[in-house]
Amino acid sequence: TRTPLIAGNWKMNLDHLQAVAFVQKLHWTLKDAKHEDGSVEVAVFPPFTDIRSVQTLIDADKIPFALGAQDISAHDSGAYTGEVSGAFLAKLDARYVIIGHSERREYHAESDEVVAAKTKAALKHGLSPVICVGETAEDLEKFGASAVPAGQLEVALQGLPKDADIVVAYEPVWAIGSGQAATPQQAQDVCAALRTVIARVLGDDAAARTRILYGGSVKAANIASFMREPDVDGALVGGASLVVDEFAAIIRFEK
Ligand code: 13P
Repeated sequence: TRTPLIAGNWKMNLDHLQAVAFVQKLHWTLKDAKHEDGSVEVAVFPPFTDIRSVQTLIDADKIPFALGAQDISAHDSGAYTGEVSGAFLAKLDARYVIIGHSERREYHAESDEVVAAKTKAALKHGLSPVICVGETAEDLEKFGASAVPAGQLEVALQGLPKDADIVVAYEPVWAIGSGQAATPQQAQDVCAALRTVIARVLGDDAAARTRILYGGSVKAANIASFMREPDVDGALVGGASLVVDEFAAIIRFEK
């Protein structure tokens, strides 16, 4: 009953002109694909400067992609130079926002508490947070795969309403951009552990409803193996979401 979500995190790639060309090409390439009937949801996460252009295109051409941002301010408005409010993103019809990506945790020192505050800000503005968690190679060796991501998720979920509309993304840091994806079994084990955390903090209904994505070197050749796992409800795709044919093939996955 959970609609699979295939999400493209473009990171700091594609300017607004390239973004428009990319989305048009992807849409043509996907004609008659199963996202048209809603059996798979497709979302793109462009840089902030592209969002208005992509929104205009999606709206004008009735392209069935959801739009998301890669970050959000924990604040609503005010003297926060360089930050972007969830209110502005909501006005641009963004449905999702990535929160706590490992690159933000690493390069911008985002703590679990910052991630929790941003999660609340997203929900307040009607955006669905895509809460990213994952262990480093060192964590994996010391604590195993699920302890660190489960702990990160636990903090992010504190104090949320039981009906909060959230998405969780399990992205092992060692698998991101490395070409070395987790095995489907590793992804399944951690995604199942994360679902248990959701059940404990927000209840069984939330756990049953919430989509948990795998991310880290997902490509056309391995997407089906992840999607066959019962607790993996989609993918958060980086590099492969920047290549039209590759991303289209991921969206067209057959289990
Ligand atoms: P890659 O797909 O390039 O490994 O990146 C994954 C990622 O970080 C998506 O958020």
